[in-house]
Amino acid sequence: MTICYIGLGGNISNALGTPTEHIGNAITAFVDSDDFDGVKVSSLYTSKAYGVTDQPDFVNAVLMAKTRLSPLALLDFCQSLETGAGRVRLRHWGERSLDVDVLLYGDAMIDSERLIVPHKELMLRNFVLIPLLELTPDLMVQGQALAQLPAAQDWQGLELAK
Ligand code: ATP
Ligand code: CA
Ligand code: CA
Repeated sequence: MTICYIGLGGNISNALGTPTEHIGNAITAFVDSDDFDGVKVSSLYTSKAYGVTDQPDFVNAVLMAKTRLSPLALLDFCQSLETGAGRVRLRHWGERSLDVDVLLYGDAMIDSERLIVPHKELMLRNFVLIPLLELTPDLMVQGQALAQLPAAQDWQGLELAK
């Protein structure tokens, strides 16, 4: 099995729930699936919208697990959770009920049409690095200690969810 790290986020409510509920349902789906063992989840964080800023604040968390899925099957699983939360694609980096990103898949480096791993913004986003380091404080990616990155020390726009 391979250790994977998954980014969970969302910032709009719909008929199926609030962002926090969508994230909770996604966590339950990982726990209930036979394709994952040892699921652990960070605290929930709230963050100011990134990139496209005229939208509601986000709720974010990072999940880690051992998986027997291949990278693309893992992406399919993540995208099925987004669809299950009623995600509609509005605009790039825009509002969404649920976003489920593959952050890391073991030590794999993947650069294909559908999947880039490590996630291309991983090293830049405090709302990914801070919850990820809560799970694995000494995590190294391609020789880089994530805890040493500037975004890992930067709480700007980020708070623990109440
Ligand atoms: P960002 O990728 O900057 O976080 P986003 O999450 O808003 O932006 P989406 O619209 O959710 O982007 O995804 C666009 C496409 O990105 C997906 O259809 C998927 O094929 C591709 N993709 C590439 N690498 C990854 C990855 N590591 N995890 C999830 N999707 C990925
Ligand atoms: Ca994303
Ligand atoms: Ca995404």
